[in-house]
Amino acid sequence: MDVDTRLAEDWVRAIAAAVEREHERLTELDSAIGDGDHGSNLRRGFAAVLVALDSPDSPDAPAPDGGPGALLTRTGSTLISKVGGASGPLYGKAFRAIGAALPPPGQPSADAAGLGEALAAGLRAVRDLGRAAPGDKTIVDAWTPALDAYREAVAAGAGLPEATAAAAGGAERGALDTVPLEARKGRASYLGPRSVGHQDPGATSTALLFRALAEATA
Ligand code: ADP
Ligand code: MG
Ligand code: MG
Repeated sequence: MDVDTRLAEDWVRAIAAAVEREHERLTELDSAIGDGDHGSNLRRGFAAVLVALDSPDSPDAPAPDGGPGALLTRTGSTLISKVGGASGPLYGKAFRAIGAALPPPGQPSADAAGLGEALAAGLRAVRDLGRAAPGDKTIVDAWTPALDAYREAVAAGAGLPEATAAAAGGAERGALDTVPLEARKGRASYLGPRSVGHQDPGATSTALLFRALAEATA
C-alpha cells in the first residue's frame, strides 16, 4: 500500500465524518478554555472540503489528475478560506504542506517513510505559523507524539496501517497529556493558570485527524 489519491480522499472524508460526529465535544472543550467555536469552525471547514470533492466543476475542487498531493493542498486552501479562528490557518497550512511534500503525478507515490516526511512537513507548517512549542497546550502537543510514534513504527519496519495506527495512539495520548498543561498560545493562554485541568480542543481535533488517517489505511 502507498499514498495514492484514493487514500488521501478516504483520509479527508474520514476526518469530515469524525468532525461531524465529535463537533459538540470539540466545542464543549473550547467553551471551557476558549470561545466555544472549535467544533463549528472545523465542521464548516470540512463540510466545504466535502462539497469541493463532490462538485468537480467548483473552483475549490482538486485537479482530477493532480494526485494525492493536489487533493490535500486543495483541502488546506479550502480550510484557510472557510475556517475563521486560529485553527483554520493552522490546519490549512498543515494540509498544504503535506500535499506539497507528496510526490507529483508521474512519480512513484509515497510509501510509509514518505508519508512520515509529509506529516513532518505538516507539523513544521503548524509550528512556523503558530510559533507554539511542545508543552504550550496546542495542536503541536498531539502532532509531535503522533509523528514520533509514526517514525518509531516505520523504523521498526511497519507499513502504513501499523505506522498510522501508532501515530493515532500517540496523538490521543498527547491530547490527554494537555490536561495538566497551562496554555501559552492562542485564546486559552488568556486564562493563564485557569487553563490547567482542561483538555486542549485543538490537540483533541488533531487526535481525530490521526485516527482518521489510521482508518483510511486500515
Ligand atoms: P480560536 O481560538 O481562534 O477560536 P479554534 O477554537 O478553532 O480557534 O481553535 C483553537 C485551538 O487552536 C486551540 O485549542 C489550540 O490547540 C490551537 N491553537 C491556537 N493557537 C495556536 C498556536 N499558536 N499554535 C498551535 N495551535 C494553536
Ligand atoms: Mg475557539
Ligand atoms: Mg474563535
